[in-house]
Amino acid sequence: MKSARIFAICFLLAPSALWAQEVQVRLFAAISPKSVTITSTQGDFHWRECPTCADHADRKLIIDLTPEKSADGARGAAKSPATIFFITGNYQIVPVGGPAFTASFPLRVERKDAGLVVLVSMPMEQYVSAVLAAESGASKNDESLKAMAVAIRTYATRFHGQHVQDGFDFCDTTHCQTMKLSGVDARNRAAALATKGEILFYHDAPAETFYNANCGGITAAANEAWAKAGEPYLIVHSDTFCPIPGEVKWETALSPAEIDRSLRVAGISPPENWQTIQIESRTASGRAGKLQFLGGTPPRFLLAASSFRFAVDRELGWNKVRSDLYEIRNSAGKILISGKGSGHGVGLCQAGAEEMAREGKTYREILEFYYPGTNLRTVTSADQKWQSRSDEHFELLSQNPETDAQIFPIADRILAEDEKSIGWQLTFRPRLQVFSTLDSYRNETGEPGWVAASTRVHTIRLQPIALLKNKSILESTLRHELFHLLIESKSRAGIPLWFREGLALYLASPENTDSANSGMSDQQLEAQLTHPASREEMERSYAVAKRKVQALIQQHGKQKVLSWLSVGLPVDVNSGRRGN
Ligand SMILES: [Zn+2]
Ligand SMILES: [Zn+2]
Repeated sequence: MKSARIFAICFLLAPSALWAQEVQVRLFAAISPKSVTITSTQGDFHWRECPTCADHADRKLIIDLTPEKSADGARGAAKSPATIFFITGNYQIVPVGGPAFTASFPLRVERKDAGLVVLVSMPMEQYVSAVLAAESGASKNDESLKAMAVAIRTYATRFHGQHVQDGFDFCDTTHCQTMKLSGVDARNRAAALATKGEILFYHDAPAETFYNANCGGITAAANEAWAKAGEPYLIVHSDTFCPIPGEVKWETALSPAEIDRSLRVAGISPPENWQTIQIESRTASGRAGKLQFLGGTPPRFLLAASSFRFAVDRELGWNKVRSDLYEIRNSAGKILISGKGSGHGVGLCQAGAEEMAREGKTYREILEFYYPGTNLRTVTSADQKWQSRSDEHFELLSQNPETDAQIFPIADRILAEDEKSIGWQLTFRPRLQVFSTLDSYRNETGEPGWVAASTRVHTIRLQPIALLKNKSILESTLRHELFHLLIESKSRAGIPLWFREGLALYLASPENTDSANSGMSDQQLEAQLTHPASREEMERSYAVAKRKVQALIQQHGKQKVLSWLSVGLPVDVNSGRRGN
């Protein structure tokens, strides 16, 4: 599992507990089948070519990639030249080259150039069961299975809409969470039911509950696996449960030629005729960080161990290099890799959780051990009212989507203007979460009523549209928050908040501000922006931040100042000596 994350923070952090009742999953994502056969398991199933098109009732439907080749009468199946099929009823679906399963979830099959895109809409708890069937097949203990059910549900809540730009929530590969609809058994269902609605929170946000097969005795911090991750509960700690009763040790002998080929297939170009590999650096948990390729032309070449593992495993088989926790020996023309554990090592270790459960620990104790500092909460029905709508550029989350959809054309226009002004475009689809009342906005975001909106990750949370319109601040609020997303998408780590906030403020309204001297140091400004004590303090610190950025732009030019987002601020700007 991996995630691309951006922290776009206005100044207050608490996102609302968004509880998705349904998830839309792309099935067979790894194979993109060229053909699927759908057969009824009970009476007829129904299909349409659009949500409002005429209904067809059939017992068998074959959808091939190209309509011409599709479903001939001789095979006793219906056929259609449609691009999209909406299917309901009780059916078995059999893809060419993939596993069949029987279900009654609504299906959507679309013909795309690269293959069929098969989407299934399913209730969250059934999704949890199906992921359990794939990810926890070896689990023998109910408490570890329940811990996994919570981790899976929390992950699905935290990263809901991970594929929103592709038109669904999750794929069914390790990129998101693997799932096995055909493998769901009574124990999977019982574990999901016993923890129904339970989600791990860190402060007010669902936690990033990564998990792994076997950490090899020491868990990895999130930033060892993903450059931007830094959640305080995903840390290095020794896993005393993991090695009992039997450590997973593995050894792989590969020839330089095999390794060379897999790297080149993955688009990596190691030196010609390299001879040996050494571990150049290790991560905080002792995993291989960078590998050095020696003896070729050029004589030295560094490669991230994670890139090495993915390339070799993809080409030579997923069990060749099982983790980054290993030693390398170069011997008799072979590269010998001997390691421990399996997977990235971040978060819950399934082998350790299994041992904890066997020793009588509860699923709550397992979750506390692997995600220290998080809290388990049951989401209530009040959290379940959100509905999702999308246009080309935005996803809308709303309790009144018919009314709130009016925000689409406004947001589309302002985004286009912001992108033109800043010179680059968003590469993801942001989510606009519109609250229906000021009370629910305050209660669920934890923010005071004088904060019109705030942004975290890819979600912009807004007060009711009618309210913002009455105050004539809907457009200026959107403009400011969209600039934040654009700014954060280019910001490297360590760019101070005053600079990002000041930029957003300046870009949203570049007209002159008053030039009164604030007497504030950069440190004071940074602290006030992070935790403003009052509305007045917030307004003052905003004004100072904007003025500082405005002065920089007057001195250096807009393009130069914008470029500092990715290269870092010049020392004299960041040191505070130029503070107002
Ligand atoms: Zn995915
Ligand atoms: Zn472990």
